[in-house]
Amino acid sequence: MFSYRHAFHAGNHADVLKHTTLIAVLRHLTQKNTALQVFDTHAGAGLYRLDGDYAQTSGEAADGYLRLVQQPNMPPALASQALPAIHHVANKRPDSTPPAPALQDYLELVASFNRSSGSGGSSGSGGHLVYPGSPFIIDHLLQGRDRDRLKLYELHPTDAKTLRANIAQLDAGRQITVLQEDGFDGLKKFLPPPSRRALVLCDPSYELKTDYARVVAMMTDALQRFATGTYMVWYPIIPRPEAHDLPRKLKTLALRAGRPWLNATLTVKSSKLGHDDEGEVVRPGLPASGVLVINPPHTLKALLTAALSQIAQALAQGKHQAFEVTSGGH
Ligand code: SAM
Repeated sequence: MFSYRHAFHAGNHADVLKHTTLIAVLRHLTQKNTALQVFDTHAGAGLYRLDGDYAQTSGEAADGYLRLVQQPNMPPALASQALPAIHHVANKRPDSTPPAPALQDYLELVASFNRSSGSGGSSGSGGHLVYPGSPFIIDHLLQGRDRDRLKLYELHPTDAKTLRANIAQLDAGRQITVLQEDGFDGLKKFLPPPSRRALVLCDPSYELKTDYARVVAMMTDALQRFATGTYMVWYPIIPRPEAHDLPRKLKTLALRAGRPWLNATLTVKSSKLGHDDEGEVVRPGLPASGVLVINPPHTLKALLTAALSQIAQALAQGKHQAFEVTSGGH
């Protein structure tokens, strides 16, 4: 069975990129009243504790979400959410420019999960620092839209159980289904959706090398069934041929289907191996990642460009920070 657990990675730089993009896309799609079907093919556990063992062990959130809320220009209400002893947080932003709208939206949404009362799905977090995964972010943005449907796929037995328990906390009657099934295979039977409006988030762990080919196969099939859906695929940027080829293959699929695409990438550190004080080789961890969106909202490029410019600067580890937002097929 898989060993990947998203709890180690929740709130890291990849989540910042992915969730900022997800929120901006969903804000746009929920402007229309027509029913929307949302699929999260790799959902994870739904909610994470950033002061829990997993997150503390990896320390990844400290270089992601937690570092962002410590920036000098954060509104005080957001900064005060950052809890205890968050170590090695460096302020990289010298100026006090306010957060770009998509970044502000992301920070406020995450912060809402940490208010003792309010609109967050996990209100009453009891002073613990909670980070919402994609299922709770999506649910948050679909609130009040009773005709929308959310399908969550999670294959790992422990995470699927936790996800079910977390989702059970939400209002009864919300139209959310948790499926302990393969998300790559599960999607096809629901496309096209009756309302002809859908968002698919495909966020595998890529623990298995075959995930890269499975993303392409799933997207090939999905675009044949429903070319006008909005599709969001997250991918790691690592020195591995499959990872390198994936965004190029997805752009080709979009262009063949005659659909526009947008690709956003965020790099926070060098991919080169380093050495510790004893001369041992140290792997850098994930240095960069990307999100490729097919049929992106027309507002997304400008929103992400402004947000990622600030995020890249704030999350830089060394001199290697970069971001890029490119698009095609319009
Ligand atoms: N989307 C989540 C978020 O943003 O909060 C994070 C998901 S995590 C990167 C990937 C998840 O996919 C893991 O929890 C893993 O157990 C699960 N998984 C792996 N292979 C899967 C498959 N074929 N179908 C469904 N879930 C799978």
